[in-house]
Amino acid sequence: MSVTGVVSDSQCHQPQCELCTTSGGDLLWQNEQCRVVLVDEPGYPGFCRVIWKHHVREMTDLDTETRNGFMNTVFATESAVRQVCTPDKVNLASLGNMTPHLHWHVIPRWLEDQHFPAPIWAAPRRDNTLAAAANLAQQLRQALNQKLGVSA
Ligand SMILES: [Zn+2]
Repeated sequence: MSVTGVVSDSQCHQPQCELCTTSGGDLLWQNEQCRVVLVDEPGYPGFCRVIWKHHVREMTDLDTETRNGFMNTVFATESAVRQVCTPDKVNLASLGNMTPHLHWHVIPRWLEDQHFPAPIWAAPRRDNTLAAAANLAQQLRQALNQKLGVSA
């Protein structure tokens, strides 16, 4: 087992990989292993992703302690999103079919959002009426630093 707690960690930091070369969103918090970013998704203010920094495809490729630490970050992100955005529901999703980086979507949902109660990837049911507050990223950063310790 490697020092990062990853059982199999192949092809790390490929120069052509978007999530190796960019943060993948507005960086809110990070540690050595993962980062939380705010996704720019119209109609979904507060949509965050928790992204594993290395190429790991499946949650069970992480050892138990490392995986629990990753999920702790996901749950802290859910908590921060609830605190800052007060959504009607939070959706957590991990698909990862398009990138070799494990990542979790933390999606605040509102009864009046474009897709509710369907997944956000379904066909829209109504027009977007939701906009982000100007200081949303700063509020989420502050909440994450309180819950997880100061970002690296
Ligand atoms: Zn990558």
